[in-house]
Amino acid sequence: MKEIILLKDGELALKGLNRSTFEDILIRNIKERLKGLGEFRFVKSQSTVTVEPENDEIDLDEAVRRIKKVFGIVGISRAAVCEKDINEITRVSADYLADELTFAKTFKVKAKRSDKKFPFDSPAICDEVGGAILSRFRHLKVDVRDPDVTVTVEVRDRFAYVHGTQLRGAGGMPSGTGGRACVLISGGIDSPVAAYMMAKRGVKLTAVHFASPPYTSELAEEKVHELLGKVSEYSGRVNLFTVRFTEIQEAIRDFCPEEMFTVTMRRIMMKTATRIAEWQGCDALITGESLGQVASQTINALKCTDECAGLPVFRPVIGMDKNEIVSVSREIDAFDISIRPYEDCCTVFTPRHPRTRPTPEYAREIEALIPEEDRLIDEAVKTAKLKIIEAFG
Ligand code: ATP
Ligand code: MG
Repeated sequence: MKEIILLKDGELALKGLNRSTFEDILIRNIKERLKGLGEFRFVKSQSTVTVEPENDEIDLDEAVRRIKKVFGIVGISRAAVCEKDINEITRVSADYLADELTFAKTFKVKAKRSDKKFPFDSPAICDEVGGAILSRFRHLKVDVRDPDVTVTVEVRDRFAYVHGTQLRGAGGMPSGTGGRACVLISGGIDSPVAAYMMAKRGVKLTAVHFASPPYTSELAEEKVHELLGKVSEYSGRVNLFTVRFTEIQEAIRDFCPEEMFTVTMRRIMMKTATRIAEWQGCDALITGESLGQVASQTINALKCTDECAGLPVFRPVIGMDKNEIVSVSREIDAFDISIRPYEDCCTVFTPRHPRTRPTPEYAREIEALIPEEDRLIDEAVKTAKLKIIEAFG
C-alpha cells in the first residue's frame, strides 16, 4: 500500500509572513532534515503539506521521527493513498487501520472533501466508511465525542488519503522565519533549553562556547557538541564558535577582587559573544539565565552584564523554575548529557563569596583594572574555532 505523510501547518497568526512563504520555508527545512533518506516530493495545498516518498524503499518511520522535530508543524499523519473511488476508500480504511481498530473500543470517521466533484459528500463518506468498519470489526462502537481512534478520510485533487490518529508536531515557527541569534552555550542544563526555546520561535542559531584549557577538558567541549547536536535536531544546522577564554580568566583572577570574578567574567563573555554574533549576522544573544538561580543571576548582576551586550539579550528561561527547565531538557533528550560532570569555565576560579548586588559603576571600575582587555578580546575572537553542528548532515 502506498503511503505518504500529511502535515498540518502551525501558527496561523503569521504576522508579516504570508502562508505561501511560511510553507516554502517549512518545506526547505523538512528537505534539509530528510537528507540521506531518499527523494521526496512536496505538495502544498489548503494548510496541508504532503510529503510523498519517491519509492517504496524509503524508511518512513525515520522520516516521521525527524519531521516530529521540525518547527512549524502542529499535526503529522502517516496516510494510505487510494484512488478516488468509494469502494476503494472503504476497503483501504479497514485494511490500513486494522491494527489500531482491533485494539480500540470506540472510533469515529471524519471526512474532508476538498474535491467537490467527488460524488459522495462528507456525511455520506462517513456513513460508507463507518458502516464498512462496523461490519468488519464487530467489537467496535461509534463515539463521536472521545473516540479511541479517529479514521480520517481526505478526498483531495489527485487522490484520497486515509489515516488514523494524528501525531502531535513540534509546534512553533519554521526555522528561519525569526531571524538569527547567538546562544551562549555551556555544558549545563539551562542554555541548551534556552537555545531550543528560541529556535522554536523560528530563530536560526549560531553558538558561542567559552573554554578554558587546560582548566577545562576536551570532554567538556564534546559535551557541548553533543548538546547542540540534540538542539539541531529541532533547529537545523548550528555554527558553533569555541572561544579560548583561558587568558581572559587568568587576567580577571590576577587583577580583579575575587568577589567580582564572576560578574566581570560574564561582562567579558557578553562583549566577546557580541563581537562574534555581529560578525555572523546575528541580531540578538541568548542565554540560559534564570532569575535568582545563582549569584550572577540576580537582577543587580544581570544589570551589570546586560550593559556589555551590544545586542538584545533573550533569556527564555528567566522566569522558569529549575524543575520546569529540567522537564524541557528531558523532552529534548539533552538532560543525560547535561548532567555529565565535566568542568565548565564558569566553575574555574569561582569566588567563595560572590557579590550579589554589584552596581554597574563598580563593575566598570573593576573591569578597568584588567590591562589590555581589548587586545585579549580581539585575540579570543580571532582564534575562535568553528565547528558546524548538523544532526542529520
Ligand atoms: P547553564 O545550565 O546553561 O550552564 P547555569 O545555571 O549553570 O546555566 P551559569 O553557569 O551562571 O548558569 O551561566 C549562565 C549562562 O551563561 C548560561 O546559561 C549560558 O548562557 C552562559 N554561559 C555560562 N558558561 C558558559 C560557557 N562556558 N560558554 C558559553 N556560555 C556560557
Ligand atoms: Mg553553567
